[in-house]
Amino acid sequence: MAERVIPLVDQRAHTLAATVPVQPVPATGLLGDALGRPLRDLRISVTDRCNFRCSYCMPKEVFDKDYPYLPHASLLTFEEITRVARQFVAHGVRKIRLTGGEPLLRKNIEVLMEQLAALRTVDGAPLDITLTTNGSLLARKASALKAAGLQRVTVSLDGLDDAVFRGMNDVDFPVTDVLAGIDAARAAGLGPVKINMVVKRGTNDHEILPMARHFKGTGMVLRFIEYMDVGATNGWRMDEVLPSAEVVQRIQAELPLVPLEHNAPGETAQRWGYADGSGEIGVISSVTQAFCGDCNRARLSTEGQLYLCLFATQGHDLRALVRGGASDADLASAIGHIWQGRSDRYSQLRSALAPDTGTGARRVEMSYIGG
Ligand code: SAM
Ligand code: SF4
Ligand code: SF4
Repeated sequence: MAERVIPLVDQRAHTLAATVPVQPVPATGLLGDALGRPLRDLRISVTDRCNFRCSYCMPKEVFDKDYPYLPHASLLTFEEITRVARQFVAHGVRKIRLTGGEPLLRKNIEVLMEQLAALRTVDGAPLDITLTTNGSLLARKASALKAAGLQRVTVSLDGLDDAVFRGMNDVDFPVTDVLAGIDAARAAGLGPVKINMVVKRGTNDHEILPMARHFKGTGMVLRFIEYMDVGATNGWRMDEVLPSAEVVQRIQAELPLVPLEHNAPGETAQRWGYADGSGEIGVISSVTQAFCGDCNRARLSTEGQLYLCLFATQGHDLRALVRGGASDADLASAIGHIWQGRSDRYSQLRSALAPDTGTGARRVEMSYIGG
């Protein structure tokens, strides 16, 4: 087994103060970062806890019973999340994704959903609200989430073979329960459901074709994600990455594909359609083909830190402003100012950077800032 480096520093403590700039940055919906990228997509992590221990995200050796999860008082309340989200929306955000950790573990999540669903974009339109889940609690929660205003879900599923799936989630969770969750989501009208499969060479790459066959013709969109070097605990190695080009080749050999247009600017997946018209798949090539050029995503951690990139080493402490009595205008100004200074483009620079050796600034975990 590959040597695993366990972090000695808790990266969550490394935050920058979020300050209100002297020159106000009013929310006009026209904000751009230092590279001219707009702010359109906000991902909110609602919990740092999870009932799975996927080795690429929350490996058991690190996230064990002694792991210092955030205490409840550290978490943004639903009212605080909604207030912060409202300022992001005023700056141009049109899409909100709830994530985690496992977002369905957060108690009464549907109450937050209802509050977010009431927000309107700068053009007065409803937001595009979605949620990424491991699907384990979906059968129980799908209808309540739909009633609260959730439009769509993305379910993570790394294989159909029960033994492979149990191994990947590392808590022996059966695949049938996730498939039942997907059915419940569809029945509740949370479609079109997207399915995310992280592909790890040598672990679940033999599940690519069975997954493609299973979801073809169902109206669900299966997306293959390259195993990424997020965080500092998953022992990532390039030789375990199966490039998306190879995923497409393998499917193409049996189920002919044609390239499709990109959905929208900032869209992470490259789309491919089945030549017989029976649906589409997507590939997310975060490692082999950087898509930082039009990255319009901001991430809000469970305790209110704003991260400008999935691979960031530091967040900006919005919670201190929220709890310190800042007005909405001040909060919006601070967010605008932080976004204006953003020049992050980790994936584009990855190959030029030294590997994360554990001696310098460590990247924050995905379970903390959300996928
Ligand atoms: N627990 C939920 C779930 O699994 O869907 C939401 C949070 S999870 C961090 C969000 C997404 O990130 C999931 O689709 C997961 O598969 C993906 N992910 C986590 N670690 C990853 C890694 N190292 N490389 C690629 N994708 C990863
Ligand atoms: Fe949990 Fe999702 Fe991370 Fe798996 S990928 S450990 S389900 S947060
Ligand atoms: Fe966006 Fe950072 Fe990913 Fe590039 S590496 S696409 S900037 S989140």
